[in-house]
Amino acid sequence: MPSVVNSLAATTRATCTVPVALGSRAYDVLIGPDLLSEAGRLIATRLGKAKCAVVTDENVARHHLATLEASLRAEGRLRGSIVLPAGEATKSFRELGPLCERLLELGVERGDLVVAFGGGVIGDLAGFAAGILRRGVRFVQIPTSLLAQVDSSVGGKTGINTPQGKNLIGVFHQPVMVIADTNVLTTLPEREMKAGYAEVAKYGLLGDAAFFGWLEKNWRSVFGNDTAALTRAIETSVKAKAAIVERDEHETGDRALLNLGHTFGHALESWTGYSSRLLHGEGVSIGMCLAYRLSEELGLCPKGSAARVSSHLRAVGLPTSIGDIPGAKASAPELVRLMGQDKKVRDGKLTFILVRDIGEAFITQDVAVERVTQFLVREIDTSRAA
Ligand code: NAD
Repeated sequence: MPSVVNSLAATTRATCTVPVALGSRAYDVLIGPDLLSEAGRLIATRLGKAKCAVVTDENVARHHLATLEASLRAEGRLRGSIVLPAGEATKSFRELGPLCERLLELGVERGDLVVAFGGGVIGDLAGFAAGILRRGVRFVQIPTSLLAQVDSSVGGKTGINTPQGKNLIGVFHQPVMVIADTNVLTTLPEREMKAGYAEVAKYGLLGDAAFFGWLEKNWRSVFGNDTAALTRAIETSVKAKAAIVERDEHETGDRALLNLGHTFGHALESWTGYSSRLLHGEGVSIGMCLAYRLSEELGLCPKGSAARVSSHLRAVGLPTSIGDIPGAKASAPELVRLMGQDKKVRDGKLTFILVRDIGEAFITQDVAVERVTQFLVREIDTSRAA
């Protein structure tokens, strides 16, 4: 993508705006430093007289809630805030019911706004709550993790997990605005930053080889205090996601490309019990490496591509094989069974995202389950031997 390979010196503008063109559900993603203290003004200017109920988690609240509340209060927009426990377990029916009731107790009306202020967990849960509250109220995403800024806050997928699998209950409900303040990432734990980076790399790997090449050269700047590099990585990712969502809002086709690495990744997450043994982005990192290795093994992709992908992700500090998961003793049939629980199953066939090269992912249902099982047996054996 030419805009990415341009010199960073050309990227000094503070804030950039990525439009998501979805007709009557269109909205902007604003990206840049210090947007949080501007949130009240941005909401007031763009979204009228609505009042805001903020939903956040305890980690984000500790670092940033006071800034957001002050900004909303200054515009007379704050109804109140609800602080939930941090972690994947919060994306559940157990939290959803009480959250909806607390939003009603705060007096959220049909014309008001729910503000999802946190990582992907809060974005998915609060977005779902907004989608069903009073048959749907508008919501604003203020994503605070890198993963949420580049992926989960854009595209309108909301939902919760159940014992049957991740994200199996939910609605498509687009936000009316996304405000991604790059400065809030300074408090994000390093491991979470790396996990989010896996989704950034995903956009290069699935459709933009030049962006992947740029990341290979510039990832240290993205992780350092270089606002221009970080903003550029987020902007490119959001543009890529927006383009796919615009083509296929409800995932009847191309949007499945965004699941590169996710069929394997979700199975690994489920197998590790959605615990701190494996973060979502770490599962995606391993899953993308597996997708490249499987594609190479099937003769779909040039030799050496898989090694290039894992070498970059390993340099960043991400896991690249099943054996990198601590305490792991995976079983291939169990992982394949868990893949079958994933929602990307149609007529009993697994939908896989495989690759023809760096930046060339495609959707297929042609891979036999036995082939995947044999592949995983080898992966697990190699991992143990290493
Ligand atoms: P998360 O929301 O659990 O956040 C990760 C951790 O970082 C949490 O402990 C959180 O409290 C903390 N945190 C977040 N921002 C912080 C900040 N600025 N400073 C300090 N701590 C901060 O997880 P995540 O990785 O953001 O999101 C993962 C979730 O997103 C998963 O549930 C996944 O299914 C979902 N997801 C959804 C979509 C979608 O399209 N809706 C896409 C990708 C992922």
